Amino acid sequence: MDRQAKLEVLGQKNDHELDGPPTPGRRAVTSRFGIFEAKTPNAKLPVMRTMMTSACAQRCRYCTFGLDVDFKRATWKTDELARTMSELSDADLARGLFLTSGLAGNSVRMMDRMLDAVRVLRSKYAFRGYVHLKILPGAEDAQIEEAIRLADRVSLNLEAPTEDALTKIAPGKSLGGDLALRLKAIQALRQRGVRPRSGLVTQFVVGPGGETDRTLLTAVDRLYRAYDVKRAYYSAFTPVLGTPMENDAPEAPTRELRLYQADWLLRFYGFALDELPMTPEGGLVREQDPKTAWAVAHPELWPVEINRADRELLLRIPGLGPTSVDKIVKTRRLTTLRSPEDLRRLRIAPKRVRNFVLFDGRHYPGPQSWMMPPPIQLELFDRIRGFGRLPEDRRRIDPASGGTYV
Ligand code: SF4
Repeated sequence: MDRQAKLEVLGQKNDHELDGPPTPGRRAVTSRFGIFEAKTPNAKLPVMRTMMTSACAQRCRYCTFGLDVDFKRATWKTDELARTMSELSDADLARGLFLTSGLAGNSVRMMDRMLDAVRVLRSKYAFRGYVHLKILPGAEDAQIEEAIRLADRVSLNLEAPTEDALTKIAPGKSLGGDLALRLKAIQALRQRGVRPRSGLVTQFVVGPGGETDRTLLTAVDRLYRAYDVKRAYYSAFTPVLGTPMENDAPEAPTRELRLYQADWLLRFYGFALDELPMTPEGGLVREQDPKTAWAVAHPELWPVEINRADRELLLRIPGLGPTSVDKIVKTRRLTTLRSPEDLRRLRIAPKRVRNFVLFDGRHYPGPQSWMMPPPIQLELFDRIRGFGRLPEDRRRIDPASGGTYV
């Protein structure tokens, strides 16, 4: 198989590997050769996403690359991959590499091949660009250390928040017996001063494991606080034809959206886990974003004087993010904010904010309709993300491509 064909086969992207939070109209865009625009910590970059091999001995039930799925297999030689990445970089087609892999046979050997490829890329081809390296289940401590030294970012995908949920979707993987050990190894390295330059990230497949939002966010909150995980990615399950879960119900993209919103509240808005509004069943409220749901549940707090409220309280107002709050705090040191127009001048949309604040003692409430977006908007969002399409539309793999290992 030539390099172009390998780029195509190994650049396949699963639906469960979206690159970041969903917004209406945005999907993870992958070119034919696996190059996509990734948001790295410092910039948006064209990144080549590829697998060391698409051969896999595991049977993760949602995955396109599982052992029993009829799919064309290919494997990079280490220098071949490094040279391809270097050439794409020279041509300014890709400026970063995201390297993952199927677990073909011995995962320690496969991790070694991934490390070799990045080592060659860094040394022989003098590549100084962004590298995101996935740590495979079963990787040894020394391999993890080298991955952290070679790459900018490393990921360890937990896929599910509990052993029970993981067993349902990936029966060959173990949270306690394997992935947690890798996490602890990364933690031990951090204590020795060896830490990924752009952090450790993880990913969850949302839905098919039967986990609640509360269970998932509890696990994520612990990862942020105890393991210094930089961020978690959530991916609403989408069944793919040819996989064991092809007939399972897809997870609604609005669930994924609410998880990302709740996650931001934990990381950037000072919310504690038990402050997130949940249903008695442990789900985030779907009809409202969690910050609005929290604000609506605390009418005793509003309105607050925008010229005097603490930064922490301003951050809890729907419609205000850290940047907007910083602008308000800076501006009010010099002048008094007297009306919603003053927010507009700071390039802050006052539409939602005005319901929660006083401007120099005066209240300019706006229409309240934002408190409960009509169901049609959520339905539209789900449809934009492809929820509820016919199975034929979800076909990602050409079954005629055969199942040959190369
Ligand atoms: S280990 Fe599981 S998720 Fe990863 S490629 Fe293999 S089957 Fe897919």
